[in-house]
Amino acid sequence: MQAFEEYPCPNCGSELNYEASKSSLKCLHCGTAFAIQQSTEVIEERNISIFKDAETIPIAPVQVVVYRCSKCGQETQKEGDVAFFECRNCGNNVLNPAAYATRRISPAGIIPFKISKQEALDRFANWIGRGFWNDNDLKKLSLADKLEGHYVPFWTFDCHTENDWSGYAGRYYYETVRRRNANGEEVTEQVRHTDWTWRSGSFERFFDDVLVCGNNAIPQDRINDVYPYLLKDVVVFDDEYLLGWNARAYDKDLSETYQLARSIMDRKIEEDAVSRLAEDTYRDLRVETRYSGETFKQIILPVWLCQYLFKGKTYHFIINGQTGAIGGNKPLSVSKIATAIIIGILVLIALYFFSKSG
Ligand SMILES: [Zn+2]
Ligand SMILES: [Zn+2]
Repeated sequence: MQAFEEYPCPNCGSELNYEASKSSLKCLHCGTAFAIQQSTEVIEERNISIFKDAETIPIAPVQVVVYRCSKCGQETQKEGDVAFFECRNCGNNVLNPAAYATRRISPAGIIPFKISKQEALDRFANWIGRGFWNDNDLKKLSLADKLEGHYVPFWTFDCHTENDWSGYAGRYYYETVRRRNANGEEVTEQVRHTDWTWRSGSFERFFDDVLVCGNNAIPQDRINDVYPYLLKDVVVFDDEYLLGWNARAYDKDLSETYQLARSIMDRKIEEDAVSRLAEDTYRDLRVETRYSGETFKQIILPVWLCQYLFKGKTYHFIINGQTGAIGGNKPLSVSKIATAIIIGILVLIALYFFSKSG
């Protein structure tokens, strides 16, 4: 039998939610607030080599779990990797502590939500209102129902690298050449040449907290728009923070996300190598990297997600649930763009006649 946890208000027995604006649990009925007892435990980096091979085993299909509500007696079915849900009949809050145990690696830390739904809606209104190209009808959109707060699993990686690089540095020089043009007149021209010099060297670079999203529904390039998360505020994971929020276990495992982290690190290492090698230009760059001291943590981060339909097209935005940073795509105003194009054409016509008359 699956063990679920309910968190009734000690004062009145109603539901408690984790409230972003208060940074505490708050009763929906009587309004009493309760602080979450924070653990003083240190979140440790874990050695990657111990887990990487074990993690290549595919994530097993998750069983459906059945919760029988202690308040109304109704049953609610959920996928077993959902960590928080509500009774489908009376809305009673339920935590499923076994959700993260459906994966090999459990979360070590969490950044609790700081941005409330109202703040998130305000950020959106402010963001969408900026810029001449936006449709005025956008401001009338009511997105409260479509905006969802999710606790999303992320992986962070630390790694030490030693890098040997080599290649040709190119320096431009110019030669003055005389030649005859099509009219038979003698002209001089500057011709560019490149002087190539072989170079090599080595450098070390330490990577701290390379952050990769562990949820397939959020592409990495979208979440990049709302970075950074302030990871110094990570606290020891406690599922009480999940009360009232969407939360489920990762679907991108350690080995998959570590490959992504490596490609992020390799790009930075290449930039470093280029800055050491290149003069005016470079070619045949080779970098050999040795990775050591590779460690990781799984942490849960707060994300506001919204997808909406506007004039027949789908748009989305993401808000960092800790800092309020926002990213996404905005609808453009067709009428404003048309007006701008017409004005542009009129200006060109006016300039043409002006230059003719002058
Ligand atoms: Zn209460
Ligand atoms: Zn119920």
